[in-house]
Amino acid sequence: MKILKILTLLLASGSLFAQEKPKNVILLVGDGMGLSQISTAFYYKDGPSNFEQFKNIGFIKTSSTSSKVTDSAAGATAFASGKKTYNGAIGVDADTLSIPTIVEELDAINFKTGLISLSTITHATPACFYAHVKSRNMHEEIAEQLAHSQVDFFAGAGLQYFTQRSDKKNLFKEMKLKGYQMDSIGLATSIEPGKKYGFISEKEALPAKHISRGDFHPKATQLALDYLSQSKDGFFLMSEGSFIDWAGHQNNAEMLVAEQLDFDEVLGVVLDFAKKDKNTLVVVTADHETGGVALTKGKTSDELSLKFNTKSHTAALIPIFAYGPGSETFQGIYENNEVYHKIKQLLAL
Ligand SMILES: [Zn+2]
Repeated sequence: MKILKILTLLLASGSLFAQEKPKNVILLVGDGMGLSQISTAFYYKDGPSNFEQFKNIGFIKTSSTSSKVTDSAAGATAFASGKKTYNGAIGVDADTLSIPTIVEELDAINFKTGLISLSTITHATPACFYAHVKSRNMHEEIAEQLAHSQVDFFAGAGLQYFTQRSDKKNLFKEMKLKGYQMDSIGLATSIEPGKKYGFISEKEALPAKHISRGDFHPKATQLALDYLSQSKDGFFLMSEGSFIDWAGHQNNAEMLVAEQLDFDEVLGVVLDFAKKDKNTLVVVTADHETGGVALTKGKTSDELSLKFNTKSHTAALIPIFAYGPGSETFQGIYENNEVYHKIKQLLAL
């Protein structure tokens, strides 16, 4: 009788089945990162991979409306806007109609938002979070939409789409006038809460890790977290490990391992933050696998050899990892666009 009474009280207060709600969301996308790519972090890293910290793990199905094998544009539109669309689509549905992105929806309710990419900031994955165009190749149009967006922090490459445009506009200057602190050279060391920040390198992409990128990705992600976490209303950050995909396209094993280990570092930065903060949901996944990578036996039984089956993307199911309030929601096997709906539901939007 007493137990029944306690149970009734718990039910009435909602505490028995209450879903934990995050205040902040960090989405890490390892472009082209399938299970073999992730596995390299377990074989090639000195010390344990940060992927080992996750308890809530699932798989996503990545096909687009136009192909069983998706591209990054359709994949990121599914994450950003919750709808499957055709390959090449940026923030538009299968009928090329604009669909709101989670960044736009959160900006409207005072969340701080941030986007980081190692390729151009107008590249498919970051673009899907703020732009709406029918083709991923429309870089100048995408840059213009970023200039008119409410994104608070961004870092990546592709300055030419802002300053060397066919319409002669200088979006870099326009954004400065709008109040953005724009920097084309490096990342700031101190960052103020009331301002907006854009860091765009002059190149077509940042250098690959095994060439000369250094710690740009973990550093940019830490800087974004230092800045975004000053928000009282919560924040959303998408940070992309862009080159895991490019290593797959190039069938470059050395590049792939270096990029995956760099991504593992970023994961460490994000999980350290989330552990201290306790109100942050971390979701880590990929848009698709690239290269059909296999880890096979090398020359000796101690060595591994990375083999590639294709220079393109593949249709393999993609692992998804979650940490923090609501992370158990990400267990199971589901479509990639469910990621958007799960995040929105957890934020109670
Ligand atoms: Zn690709």
